[in-house]
Amino acid sequence: MANKLYEHPLFRIRHELLSPEDRIQVTYERAKLVVKTWNLSPQDIANCSRRFWEHQQDPVFGVDPALTNIMTCHINLFLGTLIPLLPQKPHLKPLVEKALKAEILGNMFLSELGHGLDIGRLETVATNVDGGFILNTPCNSATKFMAPTLPLDGIARWGIVLSRLVIEGEDRGVHPFLVQTSDEKRMLPGVTNRCLPLRSGSMLDYSLTSFDNVFLPETAFLGHSLERPKDPRTQLHSYIWRIPVGTCAIGMPAVLSCKLLARIAADYSLRRTVGGQGGQTVPIISFRTQSLPVAHTVAIAHVLSAWMHHVVDYFVDKNTSYDARTALGTVFKATVNRLVTHCAKELGERLGAQGLFPQNHLGIMDTDIKGTTISEGDVTVICIRLFTEVLLGRRQLPSPAHTNTLLFKRYDAYLTSNRHLMSSFKNGHRDVRFNNLVLPQCDPGIRALGHALAYSAAQDAGLPQSLLDLFEIAVIKLDSGWFAEHAGVTEAVRITKEDEAAGRVLHDLQKHVDDLNIRPWVASPLISDEKWDWWLDEVRRDNASFAGGLLKRSERLEAMLSRL
Ligand SMILES: Cc1cc2nc3c(=O)[nH]c(=O)nc-3n(C[C@H](O)[C@H](O)[C@H](O)COP(=O)(O)OP(=O)(O)OC[C@H]3O[C@@H](n4cnc5c(N)ncnc54)[C@H](O)[C@@H]3O)c2cc1C
Repeated sequence: MANKLYEHPLFRIRHELLSPEDRIQVTYERAKLVVKTWNLSPQDIANCSRRFWEHQQDPVFGVDPALTNIMTCHINLFLGTLIPLLPQKPHLKPLVEKALKAEILGNMFLSELGHGLDIGRLETVATNVDGGFILNTPCNSATKFMAPTLPLDGIARWGIVLSRLVIEGEDRGVHPFLVQTSDEKRMLPGVTNRCLPLRSGSMLDYSLTSFDNVFLPETAFLGHSLERPKDPRTQLHSYIWRIPVGTCAIGMPAVLSCKLLARIAADYSLRRTVGGQGGQTVPIISFRTQSLPVAHTVAIAHVLSAWMHHVVDYFVDKNTSYDARTALGTVFKATVNRLVTHCAKELGERLGAQGLFPQNHLGIMDTDIKGTTISEGDVTVICIRLFTEVLLGRRQLPSPAHTNTLLFKRYDAYLTSNRHLMSSFKNGHRDVRFNNLVLPQCDPGIRALGHALAYSAAQDAGLPQSLLDLFEIAVIKLDSGWFAEHAGVTEAVRITKEDEAAGRVLHDLQKHVDDLNIRPWVASPLISDEKWDWWLDEVRRDNASFAGGLLKRSERLEAMLSRL
C-alpha cells in the first residue's frame, strides 16, 4: 500500500524541536495513525500475510524507530499472540477489536531486570486464588524491564505478562497472563511504572514495571493448561512464537534506514561545496574519501532492499515451514542490522557536525539499530543457537539460488572449517574449546550466508552489476583476511576492484539514489536548499525561547544537588 503519511502533519512536524515529552506524545499519535491507516485484519496479523509484511516495510518505521518499537509490540507481539487464541477464548474479542483500532495499546512483558536472555528463570509470580490469580513482583530482579508503560492520556494500556504460575505452592512453569497496566489517565492499582531516563537514539518511555498483589480474573490466564507442563522450556517458547516473527520484521526498518541514510548522504555530498583550485567551488562528493562510503551505502541499500522482498516471498510461501522462516529471520536480521550499522559508522563523520543532530538521522541511527539488534532476539545469541544447530546437522539453512559466487564460497568455508574444528574436540559442542573457538564465529558465519543470499536475490532482481560488485567489495572489506588468504583478493586487488566498481556506481549516482524511492520520507533538511531554509525558519521560531531564553538552575536541579 503506497500511503502518503509523510504529508501528514504528524510526520511533517519538526520532531527534534519538541520537548522529550512532546516527542514521545507525537510518536504515540503516529502509532495510532499508522494502525488506522494500515487497518490490518486479524487474519493478516495471525497468518503473517503479505500485507502484514508490506506494513513492516512502511518507510515510516525507518523515519521514527520509536514508532517501530510501539508498533512491533502492539501488532506483532500483543495482537499476534491474542488473535490465534480467539477460537478458544472468545471473551478476548472486544479487547482485540479495540486494539485493532488502536483504542487501546498492547505490550509484551517478558524480560526482567535480572533475566534478559535466560527467560527460563523468570521470577514474576501469579499465585492461584479463589476466582483468579494474584500477580506479584517478588524482588527487584523480577521487575519487568524495558516495555514502555507510562500512562497515556485517553488510551488504556494492556500487556501480556509472562509469569511463573504457582498453584498450592507448586511451581507450574511460566505462562502468559493478560494484564491491564493503565487506564486513560493513570496506572491501575498495584501496577507501578518507573520510567527509565531517556537513552540516546530515539525517545520512548522505556520503563521498569512491577506488580504488587494485582488481582487477575481466571480469564486473564492465556496459557494452554494449569497443569505442570512436561517440557516447560518448549511450552514457554510456544507462548512467545511471535518473537521469531519479530526477529525478521525488526530487520526491515534497518533496510529503510539504510535507504534514508543513502539519500541524505548523497544529497548532502552533492550540495555541499568547498573552495577548490583556482577559486572554483567543488562538491565534497568529488573527494573519494566522501564518495566511497556514500556509494557503498547506496549499493548496500539496493541489495538489502532486493533481498527484503525475496525474504517476504519466502515467508508467505505456504511450503515454507515455521522453522525455516525463523532461521531465515535470524539470518536476515543479523546481516541487515550489522551491515547498516556499519554504513552508519562509515558515514559517521561524512555529514560533518550536521550528522550529529537527530533531524539528520545518522546520529541516532546507530543506537536505534543497536536496540533492535538486542530486542526481539539478541543477534549474538540467536546466531550462536542457529549456527550450532547447523554444525550439528540438526538444522538446514536456505541456500541462495546462485551458489557459484565468492560470497557463498566464504559461507561454505565457515561451515567446513568449523565442522572440522568441532570434530577435533573431545566433547564436541559441549567442549570448552567450542565456547572459545566456535562461539565467536557464529555471528559472522550466519552473516556470511546472509551476504550470499542478499547478493543472489539482488542478482535475480536484475540490479545493475556495478551495485552488485560494490556490495561484494563492501563485504570483502569486512573480512579482508579471509578473502586475501583463500580467494586471492589481496589489498592491492581489492583497492583496484573497489575503485573500478565505485567509479561505475558514481557515474549513475543520481539515478541509483532516485531509484531508492525514499525522498518524500526524508525529514532531514540537508537534502535541499528549500528544506534547509524552511527548517532554519522553524528553528528560529520554535527554539527561540529554549530554556525560556535563559539557562539557570531549576528547582528540580536544586533539589537533586541538595540530596548529594
Ligand atoms: C529497544 C528495546 C526494547 C525492548 N522492549 C522490550 C519489551 O517490550 N518487552 C520485553 O520483555 N523486553 C524488551 N526488551 C528487552 C530485551 O528483550 C532484552 O534486552 C534482551 O532479551 C537482552 O536481555 P538483557 O538486556 O538483559 O541482556 P543480557 O541478558 O544481560 O545480555 C548481555 C550480554 O550477554 C550476552 N549473553 C547472554 N546470554 C548469553 C548466552 N547464552 N550465550 C552467549 N552470550 C550471552 C548477550 O549477547 C549480551 O552480549 C527491549 C530491549 C530493547 C533494547
